[in-house]
Amino acid sequence: MSKELFMNALSSSRGEYAPACGSATSIVTMDLMDKTGVSFPEAHLDAEKMALLSGAGCSELGFDNVMPLFGVWHESAALGCRVDWGEKHRMPDCQHHLCENMNDEMKITSDFLMHESCQTPLKAIKILKKRFGRDAAITGKVFGPWTLGYHVYGVENFLVASLLEPDKVKEAMRKLIEVTVAFATAQIDAGADTICLGDHCTRDLCSPDTYRDFLKEIHQELAERIKCPLILHICGDSSDRIRYIAETGVACFHFDSKVPTETARLLAGGKLALMGGTSNYAVIRKGSPETIAADVREKIENKINIIGPECAVPLDAPMKNLKLLASETKKYRQGK
Ligand SMILES: [Zn+2]
Repeated sequence: MSKELFMNALSSSRGEYAPACGSATSIVTMDLMDKTGVSFPEAHLDAEKMALLSGAGCSELGFDNVMPLFGVWHESAALGCRVDWGEKHRMPDCQHHLCENMNDEMKITSDFLMHESCQTPLKAIKILKKRFGRDAAITGKVFGPWTLGYHVYGVENFLVASLLEPDKVKEAMRKLIEVTVAFATAQIDAGADTICLGDHCTRDLCSPDTYRDFLKEIHQELAERIKCPLILHICGDSSDRIRYIAETGVACFHFDSKVPTETARLLAGGKLALMGGTSNYAVIRKGSPETIAADVREKIENKINIIGPECAVPLDAPMKNLKLLASETKKYRQGK
């Protein structure tokens, strides 16, 4: 069963190596939208459509998990950021941040979970739970307080403040961590088996010392307070912080192809499961059956626990390449 396979692959230190195929970020492409008859932007704000489109990740593409939160703005929209939900060929984006600067008071009302942009994925998770049961693991998605800081204050303001007003940044993150925990807990209550924690502290925006000083403890706290296996997603080259991530207690790290596979496995050690690392550009978008098979083989040789794309798949990628990724992973398991 896919769910069991996915959950076992996440607990890498137990049992024998059996890779699953899955993703913590969106695998929706425009041809998958055509196939299901469900498109962006409707699928972001209609629970039934969201469930249908994300469910196709398992039923159509053969992935072992389903993940219904395609964009990155659900909880930020509920907090008051003005979000443009995009188009069929364009992911959602923010039009207006909640706060102008760190002195602007951030008001978080306790009913933010009741906002449509949080309720839609919560209802979609319930539908997926009924529909898939043990056939696929359900992965929810929340953002950590570093990314939420970008969303609420704007990337530039937040990064400048992390250098000039670190105490204010820490104070804001203490408030925002409660948003992360509350949204994750609601998704688990709705039926999520695992949660993706996106926190975009990538190398070009956040030094390894900043990770150590601002984020390691926060991720440790989230791994303790969120009561299911956590998959941490950070884009870009994260090789200078994987050793810190391995100490946080998160179950799995979803890594970018900018980190060589062998390096990722070496730095992660024996306990931290690894997911992804397959290039969205060279393999998912431009790959041939041969290069895709070679990429899966390379991931398997390096004991990557969950084979899948490095980050949200480009909308114009062909879904047949995602199907190949899943079937190549299955082939390996059957050949064993
Ligand atoms: Zn990413």
